Amino acid sequence: MGIRIGIDLGTTFSAAAMMDKRKGVPVIIPNSEGERITPSVIQFQSGRTIVGSEAKEAYEAGESGCTSSFKRSMGDDSAYCTIGGQSYTPVHLSAIMLRHIKDEVEMVTGEKVDEAVITVPAYFYHRERSATLDAARLAGLNVKQLINEPTAAALAYSVDHWRENARIMVYDLGGGTFDVTLIEMKSGGRVESIRTTGDHTLGGKDWDARLAGLIESKAEAEAGLSVREYPSLHNAAMRAAESVKKQLSSRNTAAVRLSSEDFGKYSTEVTIDEFNNATLDLIKRTTTLCEQLLSELSLSWSGITDILLVGGSTRMRQVSSFLKERSGHSPLMHVNPDEAVALGAAISVWSPPPEYNEGVAGAISRDKPPKSAGKVGQEQKLQSALSVVSSDVCAHAMGVIAVSADGSRYINKTIVPDNSRIPVKCAESFHYYTSEGGSNELEIYMLQGEKPPLESEVIGKYTVSGITHDPKNNPAVVSIQYSYDRSGLVHVQVRRQGRDVDLPVKEETVPKDMSKFGNPPEKVKVTGQPQRLNVVMAVDVSGSMNGYPLKEAKKAMCHFVDKLRQYPNNPQAGVVAVSDRSIVVMKLGSDMNKCKAAINSIEEEMAGVLNGADPFEDIRRLLRNTDGKRWGIVLADGRWDDQVKAVRRARMCHEEGIDIVGIGFGTADEKFLHDISSGEIESMFVSQDKLVESFGKIAREIGSAAPKKTGRFDAVTAVSTWRATDESGGGSPLTGSVHSSR
Ligand code: AMP
Repeated sequence: MGIRIGIDLGTTFSAAAMMDKRKGVPVIIPNSEGERITPSVIQFQSGRTIVGSEAKEAYEAGESGCTSSFKRSMGDDSAYCTIGGQSYTPVHLSAIMLRHIKDEVEMVTGEKVDEAVITVPAYFYHRERSATLDAARLAGLNVKQLINEPTAAALAYSVDHWRENARIMVYDLGGGTFDVTLIEMKSGGRVESIRTTGDHTLGGKDWDARLAGLIESKAEAEAGLSVREYPSLHNAAMRAAESVKKQLSSRNTAAVRLSSEDFGKYSTEVTIDEFNNATLDLIKRTTTLCEQLLSELSLSWSGITDILLVGGSTRMRQVSSFLKERSGHSPLMHVNPDEAVALGAAISVWSPPPEYNEGVAGAISRDKPPKSAGKVGQEQKLQSALSVVSSDVCAHAMGVIAVSADGSRYINKTIVPDNSRIPVKCAESFHYYTSEGGSNELEIYMLQGEKPPLESEVIGKYTVSGITHDPKNNPAVVSIQYSYDRSGLVHVQVRRQGRDVDLPVKEETVPKDMSKFGNPPEKVKVTGQPQRLNVVMAVDVSGSMNGYPLKEAKKAMCHFVDKLRQYPNNPQAGVVAVSDRSIVVMKLGSDMNKCKAAINSIEEEMAGVLNGADPFEDIRRLLRNTDGKRWGIVLADGRWDDQVKAVRRARMCHEEGIDIVGIGFGTADEKFLHDISSGEIESMFVSQDKLVESFGKIAREIGSAAPKKTGRFDAVTAVSTWRATDESGGGSPLTGSVHSSR
């Protein structure tokens, strides 16, 4: 058996750790050079790939073939750098880094790495998380899960500073991002992330840019050197800034020396006060986010136990001093920001996998913090970190593109709110109307964040296929299950109700042009609702129908009415009797019992004895102003007196979108039946005994013909199946009810 490790795949440094099971504490695994952390720098040099300190030295010396900071572009599929004619994506580079760490660990420990937990920033979207997993796979690592960096840091801290109910604010300021997370230590050795937020455009590089600006203004004021006149001054100031900033973390004054062929040489000094003043608004932005997080939890600064500093930029002295002034807490520097994250990951490799939280779309419950926090000064050392269990929350809400309730625009409908405990899954069911010969595919666009579709992160486009057309079960009831797994990755599973196999879901490339979701949705007739069926049955009651034929006709019509009940959206039926006159026996209505009673009330010769009339005028009148699919079923026996007029009137029905199907028996004229029928369903000529069967066939064909007329669900109509019932986007789909997946 090999070992399990935690890996901090950092922007500037990476580290690996494992549990010392005898002592019950996590320990850093130094690399083969004896260093506890390895610079995340790679150099490609004449067929050799150099990773770590040697590559970093080469990089600082300005040698070619070096690359660093690729973590910042994680999730971007394009080339991050091209060296020696070879292009490398952030995934390739991260895979090289991870493989190096794995090889070093195996060399130093003499054991094989069986399993790993890799840390990622809490704000990482699905795209970046899945790229990290891709890199791990390429590196030959078996990844148990990804864990958020602040949670990992809190785990490491908890080993020596356990206090039941302690509420720790993890303040993580890195090179390009800022995250703040509230963590609690709960009974049973649980370290739970409660809530997280951040600014992913705020980090050490912003302090560098301010410092560069400060140096440039000093150069202009002190030596008359302006960037307008000497553009290279800006690059020189930027290059110097980071090292000046680092010097100011341990001294009050730092020397600046710039040189270039352009402006020559320039030297100056920057004081800590000048630096702090130039960056005051940046540090304030971080504390505003901390206060926002507290207020979202109805807490004040006094409601937390401690502030734990993580991330390279928390070495700037202004971070501690400003936080202390603002919060009254002296921030803890108990963890080594370079090592804590890897140590925490090593603890979590042994954590049992958490159970899925289940809920209804848009209504996942969020934990409330407990009432009292642990007391300062009562810290304990845990007997063993092996018993610590961690749990995380998702930094971003998960949603789908849907059409707003009024149909005027596309919205981001939240499925899982941000800060829900992960892993989490929730499901919703809705009706999907299939069509014969149609592609019957459903497209789902998943989002992260709560902004409108075009401003949110598009996780992916998922196409669901295999929703087979079954006229007896149309619409199909489809249930979509969305989940965040314990690594914060999004999954979509789709199943047809009553089946125990998932439908195939293909993740497709997200179209480059998503602009259609910024425009008003196309007005589609099909809004996800199956069309309502409206059917008028007209029966010949002339003398030739007396006795058995009329009895069989009534039986067949009642049978048809029973079939109609199975269709969605309250189908409607009406009844007409025709011979010398056309009589409306029942107007269009959805009460099928009433309809059957009306059919049974039909009597021989109730409209005369001969065939002088036709029913088409009444059919048109009854179906006028109805929504949905409109049908007239005409049952004829014998020859009609004025066939030309009847055909003309039947065609008027066709022109108005009313489909007619003629059924004849006895001496009925086959050609006439064909002429009055609209062709959607072929006319039929049958024996009396087969009437029930023929009506049954029509009932089936009407069901399957309906979507053909109204158009299949295409991309737009599929999206429209999530017409939200409210503007917040948290409503149920218009096409069906929302269920828990349980
Ligand atoms: P991280 O992403 O956590 O590795 O943090 C990287 C950031 O920390 C970069 O912006 C560094 O400039 C910054 N940093 C590292 N060491 C120091 C230091 N001694 N003083 C100030 N900033 C530092």
